[in-house]
Amino acid sequence: KLVSKKWKAKPTSVDLGDGVFIKEGEMAVITGPCSIETEEQIRAVVAHCVENDIKMMRGGVFKPRSSPYAFRGLGLEGLKLWHQIASEAGIKIVTEVMQTSQIEEMYPYVDVYQVGARNSQNFNLLDELGKVDKAVMIKRGISGTIEELLQSAEYVFSGGNEKLILCERGIRTYERASRNTLDLNAIPILKAKSHLPVIVDPSHGIGIRAYVPQMALAGVMSGADGIIYESHEVPEKAYSDGQQTLDFAQSARLASWIRESFAMR
Ligand code: PEP
Ligand code: MN
Repeated sequence: KLVSKKWKAKPTSVDLGDGVFIKEGEMAVITGPCSIETEEQIRAVVAHCVENDIKMMRGGVFKPRSSPYAFRGLGLEGLKLWHQIASEAGIKIVTEVMQTSQIEEMYPYVDVYQVGARNSQNFNLLDELGKVDKAVMIKRGISGTIEELLQSAEYVFSGGNEKLILCERGIRTYERASRNTLDLNAIPILKAKSHLPVIVDPSHGIGIRAYVPQMALAGVMSGADGIIYESHEVPEKAYSDGQQTLDFAQSARLASWIRESFAMR
């Protein structure tokens, strides 16, 4: 496989421009709300990122919701507004693309296209993202194996897009005490099998706000190249995933713990 270490021994470095990279040897910190909600919210999160030297912001404008009645995102207009505010502050945008028709319209406003867990094996979407010259982060499927994640990455890489990032976000097991089961085992295994950078999402991985920091740090110590977690000025008021979202004080603390732990690794 092209994404395997056997094919390419040198770790892949994903260059987002302006000195921002997702790569082995650095610790990417990516935070932001589950959903982009309002201009005020965007400004608050951007300011939080700037204050804490966080260069990449996550947020959904197209949301894959389990219920069709739940908030499904601000769409392209929200992305345009977000891009305007974030780019002025030098912050890169990580956001989910749900279908092939969105790739082109999102293109001017995205730095990393996120493929969500539910679309991890949407092979048509992966094929199309293989033709794009922007970074793609593929999340592991809800019931996806490590091998299946690598096969999904292979679709994009073999299509010609080598700016690829893998993301462990927890899998569905028999355990219901947590939202998902963050598979820390996947991190050293993915790092051993593939040259691609590996990011951990402890927010969706455990789904419980109070336990997100320790799972993030466990991810750092497991060898991850970055952490993506949800934050919001008032998590209780978030339109989605508030229960697993950190407030800015918690987020600031976690970002510095992540960096300290990484320096000790
Ligand atoms: C998200 O990042 O908010 C999200 C929907 O993640 P996942 O696809 O991992 O469920
Ligand atoms: Mn979410």
